[in-house]
Amino acid sequence: MLETCILGKDHLPSLLRRLKKNHRLVAPVRNRQGDTLFTLIQELDQVDIDLENQAIASAKPYLFPQQETLFTYEISAAGDYRFTPLNSAADTIYFGLRSCDLAAILYMDVTFLGQAKDPYYLKRRENAILISIGCTQPFANCFCNATKSGPFLEMGYDLQFTDLGDRYFVEVGRIRGRELITRLGHFFTPAREEDKKAQYQLSLEARGNFHRQVQVERAIRRLREDRVPDAIWEALSRRCQDCSGCTYICPTCTCFTIRDQAVTADSGLRIRNWDACTFAGFTRMAGGHNPVDHQTQAIRRRFRHKLLHDVTRHGRPSCVGCGRCIDICFGGVDMARFVAMVCEE
Ligand code: SF4
Ligand code: SF4
Repeated sequence: MLETCILGKDHLPSLLRRLKKNHRLVAPVRNRQGDTLFTLIQELDQVDIDLENQAIASAKPYLFPQQETLFTYEISAAGDYRFTPLNSAADTIYFGLRSCDLAAILYMDVTFLGQAKDPYYLKRRENAILISIGCTQPFANCFCNATKSGPFLEMGYDLQFTDLGDRYFVEVGRIRGRELITRLGHFFTPAREEDKKAQYQLSLEARGNFHRQVQVERAIRRLREDRVPDAIWEALSRRCQDCSGCTYICPTCTCFTIRDQAVTADSGLRIRNWDACTFAGFTRMAGGHNPVDHQTQAIRRRFRHKLLHDVTRHGRPSCVGCGRCIDICFGGVDMARFVAMVCEE
């Protein structure tokens, strides 16, 4: 069985074209404004696939849409409800995921496919093939080494690519990846010993290439010991502008709210939308009472959730070190800053 192989870089466009015949294709695309975003590709020839830059947002919205209609409802003349679920998901290949993006999908699995399985997420996940690319050169704000979610992964991917210059080293991780390689075998050649050595060497070197040292484990310990002074929460809360950019951009934030929208007097939609713990209305109750003092509690809740409660529940933080909250927060209230403040104490 072929477990590692080589794809010549000049074969990548043809491979993607071939994959697109049978699947939807989502990949990082550089747009006309120069931003790289995960994009559902319609015409491969008209887009610029970008494997060099970090996508501004992760692929989260394709597995957990920012807004989706869960079902429609109709009320009969007798007052009975009829519900029609809207749950379809085409086979989709996610190509060019970074290790942190893939680790975030594995975290979403824990959230949505635990005891109560979310059928909408489940369907999209069952129909997903995940192809990641290891980071030989971590981006400026990344710290996945500190969260053990990169720069290369040991599992979780269907295929993992490593850029070896003129070719990609391809590792098979799961059955759907193996099927894909078997079906499209003419694009690949067996990996040689020197390819394996080159990949191993690059993956080792990558660990030493991080620009930031973020001491996540130390911060987790201090949170566990309840040694985070109120002054830190207060300082960060004052800086937060309540925009929720950090939670929307975060690939592991999965809070949502549900509302019904009437279309006619006797029919309507049930809609699920992203929500965020940093919004003032997150804990507001019917009647307007808010049991949580938003001004001082929201930031505390966010970081404790990611680094304390999720570690207790799942044995690992729900931060994958992608650094996106560093890029987006104009108040400087990001994971790296929080960890630094806690560790300085
Ligand atoms: S922490 Fe930053 S990005 Fe998040 S809500 Fe506050 S200001 Fe916005
Ligand atoms: S908290 Fe920040 S660094 Fe961690 S996963 Fe979310 S966006 Fe990425």
